[in-house]
Amino acid sequence: MSIVYILFIGVAILSFVAQQSLKNKFAKYSQEPLDLPLTGRDVAAKMLHDNGVNNVQVTSVNGQLTDHYNPANGTVNLSDVVFSVNSVASAAVAAHECGHALQHARGYAPLKLRSQLVPVVSFASTWVTWVLLAGIMLIEIFPVVMWVGIGLFAMTTLFSFVTLPVEVDASRRAVAWLESAGITQGEKTQHAKDALHAAAYTYVVAALSSLATLVYYILILMGRSRD
Ligand SMILES: [Zn+2]
Repeated sequence: MSIVYILFIGVAILSFVAQQSLKNKFAKYSQEPLDLPLTGRDVAAKMLHDNGVNNVQVTSVNGQLTDHYNPANGTVNLSDVVFSVNSVASAAVAAHECGHALQHARGYAPLKLRSQLVPVVSFASTWVTWVLLAGIMLIEIFPVVMWVGIGLFAMTTLFSFVTLPVEVDASRRAVAWLESAGITQGEKTQHAKDALHAAAYTYVVAALSSLATLVYYILILMGRSRD
Protein backbone atom coordinates (compact mmCIF):
# COMPACT_ATOMS: atom_id res chain seq x y z
CA MET A 1 0.00 0.00 0.00
CA SER A 2 2.88 2.39 0.66
CA ILE A 3 3.46 2.87 -3.07
CA VAL A 4 -0.16 3.99 -3.39
CA TYR A 5 0.33 6.65 -0.68
CA ILE A 6 3.48 7.94 -2.40
CA LEU A 7 1.43 8.11 -5.61
CA PHE A 8 -1.31 10.09 -3.81
CA ILE A 9 1.18 12.56 -2.35
CA GLY A 10 2.80 12.95 -5.78
CA VAL A 11 -0.56 13.64 -7.42
CA ALA A 12 -1.50 16.12 -4.66
CA ILE A 13 1.75 18.04 -5.20
CA LEU A 14 1.27 18.01 -8.99
CA SER A 15 -2.28 19.24 -8.54
CA PHE A 16 -1.15 22.14 -6.33
CA VAL A 17 1.65 23.12 -8.75
CA ALA A 18 -0.74 22.98 -11.75
CA GLN A 19 -3.36 25.15 -10.00
CA GLN A 20 -0.77 27.72 -8.89
CA SER A 21 0.80 27.85 -12.33
CA LEU A 22 -2.62 28.41 -13.92
CA LYS A 23 -3.44 31.20 -11.45
CA ASN A 24 -0.07 32.92 -11.98
CA LYS A 25 -0.23 32.73 -15.76
CA PHE A 26 -3.75 34.10 -15.90
CA ALA A 27 -2.85 36.92 -13.53
CA LYS A 28 0.18 37.76 -15.71
CA TYR A 29 -1.53 37.60 -19.11
CA SER A 30 -4.60 39.45 -17.79
CA GLN A 31 -2.30 42.47 -17.50
CA GLU A 32 -1.25 42.24 -21.14
CA PRO A 33 -3.65 44.04 -23.52
CA LEU A 34 -4.25 42.98 -27.12
CA ASP A 35 -3.11 45.24 -29.96
CA LEU A 36 -6.78 45.59 -30.94
CA PRO A 37 -9.49 47.09 -28.66
CA LEU A 38 -11.38 43.79 -28.16
CA THR A 39 -12.90 42.33 -24.99
CA GLY A 40 -13.38 38.60 -24.47
CA ARG A 41 -16.97 39.04 -25.63
CA ASP A 42 -15.82 40.69 -28.89
CA VAL A 43 -13.23 37.97 -29.52
CA ALA A 44 -15.82 35.22 -28.94
CA ALA A 45 -18.42 36.86 -31.20
CA LYS A 46 -15.82 37.33 -33.96
CA MET A 47 -14.50 33.77 -33.75
CA LEU A 48 -18.03 32.32 -33.95
CA HIS A 49 -18.88 34.63 -36.86
CA ASP A 50 -15.63 33.93 -38.75
CA ASN A 51 -16.34 30.20 -38.48
CA GLY A 52 -19.94 30.47 -39.64
CA VAL A 53 -21.41 29.51 -36.25
CA ASN A 54 -24.41 31.83 -36.02
CA ASN A 55 -26.68 29.96 -33.59
CA VAL A 56 -24.51 30.41 -30.46
CA GLN A 57 -24.91 33.33 -28.02
CA VAL A 58 -22.11 34.83 -25.94
CA THR A 59 -23.17 35.64 -22.37
CA SER A 60 -21.47 36.50 -19.07
CA VAL A 61 -21.57 34.43 -15.88
CA ASN A 62 -20.54 35.19 -12.29
CA GLY A 63 -17.41 33.84 -10.66
CA GLN A 64 -13.82 33.21 -11.65
CA LEU A 65 -12.71 30.47 -14.07
CA THR A 66 -16.41 29.62 -14.55
CA ASP A 67 -16.11 29.99 -18.33
CA HIS A 68 -17.77 27.20 -20.27
CA TYR A 69 -19.66 26.29 -23.43
CA ASN A 70 -23.16 24.94 -22.86
CA PRO A 71 -24.15 22.66 -25.76
CA ALA A 72 -27.70 22.25 -24.39
CA ASN A 73 -28.72 25.86 -25.09
CA GLY A 74 -25.90 26.90 -27.44
CA THR A 75 -24.23 29.53 -25.27
CA VAL A 76 -20.61 30.50 -24.71
CA ASN A 77 -20.57 31.62 -21.07
CA LEU A 78 -17.68 33.87 -20.09
CA SER A 79 -16.81 34.97 -16.55
CA ASP A 80 -17.00 38.74 -15.94
CA VAL A 81 -13.22 39.28 -16.10
CA VAL A 82 -13.05 37.51 -19.46
CA PHE A 83 -16.28 38.95 -20.88
CA SER A 84 -15.58 42.63 -20.37
CA VAL A 85 -11.77 42.86 -20.34
CA ASN A 86 -9.27 43.37 -23.15
CA SER A 87 -6.30 41.10 -22.45
CA VAL A 88 -4.38 38.16 -23.89
CA ALA A 89 -5.80 35.92 -21.12
CA SER A 90 -9.41 36.98 -21.88
CA ALA A 91 -8.91 36.40 -25.60
CA ALA A 92 -7.37 32.95 -24.96
CA VAL A 93 -10.23 31.82 -22.70
CA ALA A 94 -12.96 33.27 -24.95
CA ALA A 95 -11.44 31.59 -28.02
CA HIS A 96 -11.04 28.28 -26.13
CA GLU A 97 -14.75 28.22 -25.19
CA CYS A 98 -15.64 29.03 -28.81
CA GLY A 99 -13.38 26.10 -29.73
CA HIS A 100 -15.92 23.89 -27.92
CA ALA A 101 -18.78 25.54 -29.84
CA LEU A 102 -16.90 24.76 -33.08
CA GLN A 103 -16.37 21.15 -32.00
CA HIS A 104 -20.12 20.92 -31.43
CA ALA A 105 -20.95 22.52 -34.80
CA ARG A 106 -18.48 20.26 -36.65
CA GLY A 107 -19.57 17.04 -34.88
CA TYR A 108 -16.12 16.44 -33.31
CA ALA A 109 -16.28 12.79 -32.12
CA PRO A 110 -14.60 13.05 -28.67
CA LEU A 111 -17.00 15.88 -27.72
CA LYS A 112 -19.94 13.69 -28.78
CA LEU A 113 -18.62 10.82 -26.65
CA ARG A 114 -18.12 13.18 -23.72
CA SER A 115 -21.70 14.50 -24.05
CA GLN A 116 -23.05 10.94 -24.20
CA LEU A 117 -21.19 10.13 -20.98
CA VAL A 118 -22.64 13.11 -19.07
CA PRO A 119 -25.90 11.42 -17.88
CA VAL A 120 -23.99 8.22 -16.96
CA VAL A 121 -21.38 10.20 -15.05
CA SER A 122 -23.92 12.34 -13.22
CA PHE A 123 -25.68 9.14 -12.09
CA ALA A 124 -22.33 7.59 -11.08
CA SER A 125 -21.25 10.74 -9.19
CA THR A 126 -24.50 10.78 -7.21
CA TRP A 127 -24.14 7.19 -5.97
CA VAL A 128 -20.42 6.38 -6.02
CA THR A 129 -19.57 7.56 -2.48
CA TRP A 130 -22.47 5.64 -0.87
CA VAL A 131 -21.89 2.47 -2.85
CA LEU A 132 -18.14 2.49 -2.07
CA LEU A 133 -18.87 3.08 1.61
CA ALA A 134 -21.36 0.19 1.66
CA GLY A 135 -18.87 -1.85 -0.37
CA ILE A 136 -16.08 -1.35 2.19
CA MET A 137 -18.43 -2.27 5.07
CA LEU A 138 -19.73 -5.37 3.27
CA ILE A 139 -16.41 -6.36 1.69
CA GLU A 140 -16.05 -9.63 3.65
CA ILE A 141 -19.57 -10.93 3.12
CA PHE A 142 -20.72 -9.32 -0.11
CA PRO A 143 -17.74 -8.09 -2.20
CA VAL A 144 -19.91 -7.52 -5.29
CA VAL A 145 -21.07 -4.19 -3.79
CA MET A 146 -17.46 -2.98 -3.83
CA TRP A 147 -17.13 -4.05 -7.46
CA VAL A 148 -20.25 -2.03 -8.34
CA GLY A 149 -18.75 0.97 -6.52
CA ILE A 150 -15.49 0.55 -8.43
CA GLY A 151 -17.46 0.30 -11.68
CA LEU A 152 -19.20 3.60 -10.91
CA PHE A 153 -15.90 5.24 -10.01
CA ALA A 154 -14.32 3.92 -13.22
CA MET A 155 -17.00 5.79 -15.21
CA THR A 156 -15.91 9.09 -13.64
CA THR A 157 -12.26 8.21 -14.35
CA LEU A 158 -13.08 7.42 -17.97
CA PHE A 159 -14.90 10.75 -18.24
CA SER A 160 -11.88 12.69 -16.98
CA PHE A 161 -9.71 11.00 -19.65
CA VAL A 162 -12.22 11.60 -22.48
CA THR A 163 -12.17 15.27 -21.41
CA LEU A 164 -8.44 15.56 -22.25
CA PRO A 165 -8.52 15.41 -26.09
CA VAL A 166 -11.63 17.65 -26.05
CA GLU A 167 -9.78 20.33 -24.05
CA VAL A 168 -6.54 20.10 -26.03
CA ASP A 169 -8.42 20.33 -29.33
CA ALA A 170 -10.45 23.37 -28.20
CA SER A 171 -7.20 25.15 -27.29
CA ARG A 172 -5.60 24.17 -30.59
CA ARG A 173 -8.58 25.64 -32.49
CA ALA A 174 -8.40 28.76 -30.30
CA VAL A 175 -4.70 29.47 -30.88
CA ALA A 176 -4.93 28.74 -34.63
CA TRP A 177 -7.82 31.19 -35.04
CA LEU A 178 -6.32 33.91 -32.78
CA GLU A 179 -3.21 33.89 -34.98
CA SER A 180 -4.96 33.62 -38.36
CA ALA A 181 -7.50 36.33 -37.50
CA GLY A 182 -4.69 38.62 -36.37
CA ILE A 183 -6.07 38.93 -32.81
CA THR A 184 -2.67 37.90 -31.42
CA GLN A 185 0.69 37.76 -33.16
CA GLY A 186 4.16 36.50 -32.30
CA GLU A 187 4.80 36.79 -28.58
CA LYS A 188 1.13 37.36 -27.73
CA THR A 189 0.14 34.15 -29.50
CA GLN A 190 2.81 32.35 -27.44
CA HIS A 191 1.37 33.85 -24.25
CA ALA A 192 -2.18 32.79 -25.18
CA LYS A 193 -0.84 29.29 -25.87
CA ASP A 194 1.05 29.27 -22.56
CA ALA A 195 -2.11 30.21 -20.60
CA LEU A 196 -4.13 27.47 -22.32
CA HIS A 197 -1.38 24.90 -21.72
CA ALA A 198 -1.50 25.73 -18.01
CA ALA A 199 -5.26 25.10 -18.06
CA ALA A 200 -4.74 21.78 -19.88
CA TYR A 201 -2.25 20.59 -17.23
CA THR A 202 -4.93 20.92 -14.54
CA TYR A 203 -7.14 18.53 -16.55
CA VAL A 204 -4.26 16.07 -16.97
CA VAL A 205 -3.57 16.12 -13.23
CA ALA A 206 -7.28 15.68 -12.43
CA ALA A 207 -7.40 12.61 -14.69
CA LEU A 208 -4.24 11.14 -13.08
CA SER A 209 -5.67 11.81 -9.63
CA SER A 210 -8.88 9.99 -10.54
CA LEU A 211 -6.87 7.05 -11.91
CA ALA A 212 -4.77 6.86 -8.73
CA THR A 213 -7.96 6.74 -6.63
CA LEU A 214 -9.42 4.03 -8.85
CA VAL A 215 -6.27 1.91 -8.45
CA TYR A 216 -6.45 2.48 -4.69
CA TYR A 217 -10.02 1.05 -4.48
CA ILE A 218 -9.07 -1.92 -6.66
CA LEU A 219 -6.09 -2.66 -4.39
CA ILE A 220 -8.34 -2.52 -1.32
CA LEU A 221 -10.67 -5.07 -2.87
CA MET A 222 -7.87 -7.34 -4.08
CA GLY A 223 -6.07 -7.12 -0.74
CA ARG A 224 -9.20 -8.16 1.15
CA SER A 225 -10.17 -10.98 -1.16
CA ARG A 226 -6.68 -12.49 -0.86
CA ASP A 227 -6.99 -12.78 2.95
ZN1 LIG B 1 -12.60 23.68 -22.26
